[in-house]
Amino acid sequence: MKYKTLKGLQDILPPEIAAWHHIENKARDIFRNYGYQEIRLPILEATDVFIRSIGETSDIVEKEMYTFQDKGGRSVTLRPEGTASFVRAYVEHHLYNDPSPQKFYYLGPMFRYERPQAFRYRQFYQIGAEAMGIDDPKLDAEIIAMLSKLLHSIGLAGLNFEVTSIGCKKCRPDYRTALKSFLGGKLDTFCGDCQRRYDANPLRILDCKVPSCIESRKGSPPVLDYLCGECRDHFESLRGYLDVLNVPHTVNPNLVRGLDYYTKTAFEVSSENLGSQSAVAAGGRYDSMVAEFGGPSTPGIGFAMGMERIIPLIQDSVSKATGPDLLFCPLGDKASEKAFVLTEQLRAMGIWGEMNHESASMRSQMRKANRIGAKNVIVLGEDEIGKGEITIKNMTDGNSIKSSLVASDIFKIISQHK
Ligand code: ATP
Ligand code: MG
Repeated sequence: MKYKTLKGLQDILPPEIAAWHHIENKARDIFRNYGYQEIRLPILEATDVFIRSIGETSDIVEKEMYTFQDKGGRSVTLRPEGTASFVRAYVEHHLYNDPSPQKFYYLGPMFRYERPQAFRYRQFYQIGAEAMGIDDPKLDAEIIAMLSKLLHSIGLAGLNFEVTSIGCKKCRPDYRTALKSFLGGKLDTFCGDCQRRYDANPLRILDCKVPSCIESRKGSPPVLDYLCGECRDHFESLRGYLDVLNVPHTVNPNLVRGLDYYTKTAFEVSSENLGSQSAVAAGGRYDSMVAEFGGPSTPGIGFAMGMERIIPLIQDSVSKATGPDLLFCPLGDKASEKAFVLTEQLRAMGIWGEMNHESASMRSQMRKANRIGAKNVIVLGEDEIGKGEITIKNMTDGNSIKSSLVASDIFKIISQHK
C-alpha cells in the first residue's frame, strides 16, 4: 500500500460512527436544555491567538503546535484547543453585547504534535462549551453539573470530578513568590525546561511530567493556601453549589492545568477505566482572557472533553450500525429494473432500501442479505412480476408476509417491521 495516515492521526470508519453520533446527539440535547448554542470556528488561526492565551511557556505552545507559514508569509497554527479561537471570535463579533450569560458550544478536531500513544493522538476531537459574562460561582457549578449530566447520559460510569482554584491576578503574585522560594533552593534537581520556567513562569513547573521534577516538587506550597478572600469565597461557594446540584467531587489542590489563561476554578474529570491517559474532560474559568484579547473585561468559564477517550468506554454498549430496512433480490433483468424503481419509491417514503445489483443465485443473494444485516428481504423473479404479488421475508423473526407489488403496500408492511 502506498499511502497511510500520518502518525498520530486516524481514520474513523463506519463501524465506530454510531458511538460518535451517540455522543454528539446527547451533547446537542443537553446543551439545548442549558441554553448553549453552537458556534463553528476555523481550524486555522493566527499563531499569536494561541501564544497570547495558552502561554509562551506552556507545553502546548513550546512543543505541540502545528505552526507553519502560509503562502502569504503569515504564521498560522492548526488549533490545539478551542477556547482561544472562541475568545478571538467572541471579541471579534462583539458577542459580549448580547445578554449575559452568553453560552456556546463547539465540536471539532484539534491538533497537537504529541507523542502518539493509546488515547493520545495528534488530531483528536473535542466537544467544548463556554459560558460568558457571569462570574457567579453558580455558573461554575452549573457548567460542571451539565458536564456531569452529559457524561452520564452518554453512558459513562466510574468518573472522578476534581476541582480546585488557582487564584486570580490579585493572589497569584503571592503564590508565585512562595513557590519560587520553595523551588529556588533545589533548582538544580529540575530538568532544563523547568529551570527556564523558574523565572518565566514557575507555576508551569507544577505541570512538568518529568519523573525527577515530580519528585523534586513534592511538598511545594499548595495554591489553595494563598487564595485571596474573593477567590476563597468563590471556591467555597462553588463547592456548596456542586453539593446542591448533587455533583460528587473531590478537591485536588495539585491540579494544574496545561494552559496559562485559567483563573479561579479549574477542574478535571477522569475515568477509572482508561489507564494512564485517564482525563476525559477538563476546564476552568478564564476571567482575564477577553480583556487580553482587546474586549471589555468579561469573565468566562468552559470545558472541553476528548471524544477518543470516551468512544472506547461506550463502544460495546452502543448498538452497532445496522443494515437496510429492505433488500430486493431480483432474479433477472426485468426484475432488476422493477426493483430499481421500487427501491427509489420506498426511499422517498422514508425506508432505507437497497437492491442487489449482481445477477446471482437466490442462495447467494440471501447470504448477502444476512451479511449486510438486511431486516427484510423481497425475492423478485419472473413469477412475482407476472402475478403482481410478492413475499416479504422478515429476517429477524423469519416470518413471511404477502404483499402486492406496489410501493405503498410494501411500505405499510416494512414500516411495521423496521
Ligand atoms: P492530558 O493531561 O491528557 O494531556 P490535557 O490537559 O492536555 O490532557 P486539555 O487541553 O484539558 O487536555 O483537553 C481536554 C481533553 O481533551 C482532555 O481531557 C482529553 O480528554 C482530550 N485530549 C487532550 N489532548 C489529547 C490528545 N492528544 N489526544 C486525545 N485526546 C486529547
Ligand atoms: Mg496534554
